[in-house]
Amino acid sequence: MTAPLIDPFARAITYLRVSVTDRCDFRCVYCMSENMTFLPKKELLTLEELDRLCSTFIGLGVEKLRITGGEPLVRRGIMTFFDAMSRHLGTGALKELTLTTNGSQLSRFAQDLANAGVRRVNISLDTLDEQKFADITRWGRLKQVIDGIDAAQKAGLRVKINTVALKGINDAELFDLTDWCASRDMDLTFIEVMPMGDIGNEDRLDQYWSLKDLRGQLETRYTVTDLAERSGGPARYVRLEETGQKVGLITPLSHNFCESCNRVRITCTGEIFTCLGQEGKADLRSPLRDHPADDAPLTNAIRAAIGTKPKGHDFDYSRQDVAGQMSRHMSHTGG
Ligand code: SAM
Ligand code: SF4
Repeated sequence: MTAPLIDPFARAITYLRVSVTDRCDFRCVYCMSENMTFLPKKELLTLEELDRLCSTFIGLGVEKLRITGGEPLVRRGIMTFFDAMSRHLGTGALKELTLTTNGSQLSRFAQDLANAGVRRVNISLDTLDEQKFADITRWGRLKQVIDGIDAAQKAGLRVKINTVALKGINDAELFDLTDWCASRDMDLTFIEVMPMGDIGNEDRLDQYWSLKDLRGQLETRYTVTDLAERSGGPARYVRLEETGQKVGLITPLSHNFCESCNRVRITCTGEIFTCLGQEGKADLRSPLRDHPADDAPLTNAIRAAIGTKPKGHDFDYSRQDVAGQMSRHMSHTGG
């Protein structure tokens, strides 16, 4: 039997998030600067390399695979990759194949994703106001995303909406967003803005709306009950008793979630990051490319990287200063 991946803090690594491109058709203000420079294509893992890499991780005990980016659905030929991964669902080695998307391409791809075995999708949406949506995403249009959500639900995909909490931007829409998700039977998770990458002139502290405050606002209208449920990630869940809705709160900054971390991330260039909030990384592209017919160097490199997984992150806004700031963008590591 191949030994599973266990890190130095006895956490089993069963969840892999893979960024398949750094490119995107949006330019969200908290994620990218308007004039992003993207990587040359040859730096990116090919779809075949992505397949081999993910399949190796699955052979080492990864049971959940989340595809992200950049915008994963703008990667040319990406459905070939989803179709290929579905073979691991077929054998039962992989329990879940899923993705995080801005929704812009879902009208085209939702049915194909469902056919490949995807059952759930996370769609990022911060506002229901057309103008605000255009302001936040710079290049996106709200209708495109709503059409994408419609298509996903029509294809039978379970939808979870991810909303970045943005002070002065979507705080007044808290109840509209909550009600809208309830009316469409969609789960909803709020995310605190994290200090990832240079985003041009935007100020992180201006954008930061603590989920502690957000929760306080929910309590003015609903009975909010903490749920014991954990996903091995940064989300904590509450139930709004009046609607029965489950709401996720991702609070990397005001709350530490590292003790139960079960995941690692791979960038589109094949670097492995064992913690979203630390610079530590290792190169998996060289063992992949240099040894096309021998998986041992790749497996060894993966094991060595897992052996360096740190205990936790160092993000901290508490001193009114953006401490623990990461130089890489979220679109590089994948959200
Ligand atoms: N393009 C896809 C999307 O937007 O869903 C997938 C990649 S995106 C980087 C993944 C998630 O990260 C999105 O929900 C996005 O809102 C979130 N995100 C991006 N930059 C962030 C930041 N600085 N802080 C918190 N969340 C961020
Ligand atoms: Fe693109 Fe997603 Fe980043 Fe927005 S959050 S710019 S949609 S990668």
